[in-house]
Amino acid sequence: MKRIKMETAAVTTTFSRPQHLNVPADLLERPEAVFVGGCWQAGRGAAAILAIDPSTGEAFARILPASAEQVAEATQAAERAFIDWRRTSGARRADFLRAIAAGLRGRKPDLVALQMLNNGKPRYEAEIDVDDAAATFDYYADLAAELDDQQGRPVLLGDESLTGATYLEPLGPVALVVAWNFPMVTTAWKLAPALAAGCTAVLKPSEFTTLAELVYGDLATQIGLPAGVLNIVPGGGSVGAALCSDRRIRKISFTGSNATGSQVMAAAAGRIVPVSLELGGKSPIIILEDADIAQAVEFASAGIFFNCGQMCSATSRLMVAEGIAEDVTAALVAKTNQLLVAGHDEPDAQMGPLTTTEQFAKVKAVLEKARAAGLDCITGGNPVHDRRGFFVEPSIYRNVPTDHAVWREEIFGPVLAMRSFTSVDEAVALANDTDFGLAATVVGTDGDAAAAVARRLDAGHIWVNTSQMIFPNTAWGGFKASGIGRELGPWGLAAYRGVKHITSAV
Ligand code: NAD
Repeated sequence: MKRIKMETAAVTTTFSRPQHLNVPADLLERPEAVFVGGCWQAGRGAAAILAIDPSTGEAFARILPASAEQVAEATQAAERAFIDWRRTSGARRADFLRAIAAGLRGRKPDLVALQMLNNGKPRYEAEIDVDDAAATFDYYADLAAELDDQQGRPVLLGDESLTGATYLEPLGPVALVVAWNFPMVTTAWKLAPALAAGCTAVLKPSEFTTLAELVYGDLATQIGLPAGVLNIVPGGGSVGAALCSDRRIRKISFTGSNATGSQVMAAAAGRIVPVSLELGGKSPIIILEDADIAQAVEFASAGIFFNCGQMCSATSRLMVAEGIAEDVTAALVAKTNQLLVAGHDEPDAQMGPLTTTEQFAKVKAVLEKARAAGLDCITGGNPVHDRRGFFVEPSIYRNVPTDHAVWREEIFGPVLAMRSFTSVDEAVALANDTDFGLAATVVGTDGDAAAAVARRLDAGHIWVNTSQMIFPNTAWGGFKASGIGRELGPWGLAAYRGVKHITSAV
C-alpha cells in the first residue's frame, strides 16, 4: 500500500493506493476534473469528493466538483458545438466513435485496475465492463455510418403535385446522468448513441465513481473530438439537478434510482423536455420443473452475486418448481458457500465488496430487518466481519413472504429471496406481481416451454437458459416503474433523434 499526502490550501488528506493494482497516476490525480469546451478546469463547486476504495474503506483520491456556473458553461459549450456537430456526416461521426472504442481498449489494463480499486469489482468483471463499453461505441459507429443514406427518405403522398420526405434530426445538447454500478458502461449506452445521432452531450458521472468516467474526456482530446461535443461535470445531486434544469438541454437520459428518477422527470416536466429513465428492478428467475439443476444454479448465482448484486437487472427473486426445490436449494447453497468473497488483493476473488459505504449500510439494514422478521436465512445474512471494507456475505432467504421488503423492494446487494411454486401459472403470477419490470430469467430443458413462459412475463429483457448477457444490438429498459424508453439497439439511437417530415410542392 502506497501512502500519498495531498495538500491544498484548505485540506490535507492521506490517500492509500494499493501498489499491486498499479493504477497510473494520471487516472487518479485530477486537479482539473471538469471538462468544458474541450478544456480541463479545476472544479469550483462545493465540498471535494473523496474516491473511496470499498475493499478497505480508505480514500485514494480527491475530486473537485463542478459549480453551478461551470454546469452552465458546459451546456453553453454543448449548445455551441451542436451547430457543427449536427452537420457532421454520420460517416465522420462514426470515425470518432470507433476511435473512442479503440482508445478504451488501448487503456484497458489501466481502466480494469481503476474499476477494481473504485468499484471493488473482481478482475474478470472489470474486464467485461471495459470490453462492453468499447463494443457499444463500435456498434453505434456502425449505425452512425448508415445514417447519411437514411435521410430524406421519400414518402408517397397520393397527390402528384406534392412530394414528401422524412428526416431524423438530433435533438440538441443532451444531459447524461449516470449511476455508479457500471461506470463507463452505462455511460457508453448513452454517450455512443447520442454522439452517433448528432447530439452534443454534458455527462454527469456518479459522485462515487467519477474517475473512470473522466477517461472519456481524455479520449475526446486524444482523438480530436471537436470542442464542446462532450463535456463532463463531476459532482453530486445538486450538479445533476442544475444540469437537468438547464434551459439549453433538449433531452435528459438518466440511469439511477426511482427516487431520483422521479425528481429528474419533474425537472423535465417543467420545461417539457423528453426524458429516458433507466431505473430499478426486482427481477424474477423462474426455474421450471424440467430444468437442469446445475445450469439453473449457475444462472441463479450469476444473476444475484455478479457485481455483488449491484445490478438493476439482478434476478433477486427466485421461483423454483416445488418438485426440484430441495435439490436446487441444496446445490445453490453449496455453490454460494464456495464463492470467494474478497477485494482486489485476492486475484481469484469471485465477489467483491459493495461499492459505497451508503450501500453497505443499506444492505446491512436489510439483513437486520430480515433477522428481526424471522426470515429463513439458509446462507449468509451477515456483513463479513474478518475483512476491512464493505463486504457482506452472499445471502439467501427461503419461503420469503410476498409482502416482505426482501421480496418486494430493490436491495441492490447480494441478497436472494426464494419461493417455490406448484404450477407455471402461479410462477408467472408471482413473477409479475411487482412494481418493476426490467429483466427476468427462465430456466427449463424444454426451450419452447421456457420461451412461452418468457412471453408471459412483464419485463424488458428476458434470458431463457442463459443469464445477464446484454449485447449492444438488443434493447435495454423496463416496463412499469423500471423506467421509460429503451437504450441500446436502434431504439437507443432513436432516443436522441426527432422525426421531421417535409412536404413540398413539385
Ligand atoms: P441515484 O439515483 O442515487 O443517482 C444516480 C445519479 O443521479 C447520480 O449521478 C446522482 O448524483 C444523480 N442525482 C442525484 N440527485 C439528482 C437530482 N435531483 N437531479 C439529477 N441528478 C441527480 O442512483 P445510484 O445509487 O447512483 O444508482 C443505483 C440505482 O440505479 C439503482 O436503483 C439501480 O437499479 C439503478 N440502475 C438502473 C440501471 C438500468 O439500466 N435500469 C442501470 C444501473 C443502475
